[in-house]
Amino acid sequence: MDKPMTDERLDELEMIRMWNFNHPQRMELIAEIRRLREELERSEKERDRFCDKLHIKMDEHREIERKLAEARELFEEVVDYVDEKCWYDHHGYCQAHGLQPKGECFVELIVAWLKNPAVQAAKEQGDE
Ligand SMILES: [Zn+2]
Repeated sequence: MDKPMTDERLDELEMIRMWNFNHPQRMELIAEIRRLREELERSEKERDRFCDKLHIKMDEHREIERKLAEARELFEEVVDYVDEKCWYDHHGYCQAHGLQPKGECFVELIVAWLKNPAVQAAKEQGDE
């Protein structure tokens, strides 16, 4: 395994020894290593603060998802309860739900809201 102790190898070892003990940049290198260690420490602290914030955000996000899933369930019950699709007279008023103008009928708005991709995603998560 060891390299044979040739003159070249001895020169090489001498260079390593010189570098280790007498290299003119040795102090600069040590200072650089110290600086990098401090930078790493700062970076780790920053990462920890970021992780804490991320966890708070994730908790908030889960809370919003929970409320969204709750709202979705309630609105689905409303649509089931009403049990009639919107239909509009020639003036554009919903005959099924109290003559509300087209685009403003609460059933139409709820049905559209339930088709929202974010609401659908909350539905899929709630079903898991
Ligand atoms: Zn309607």
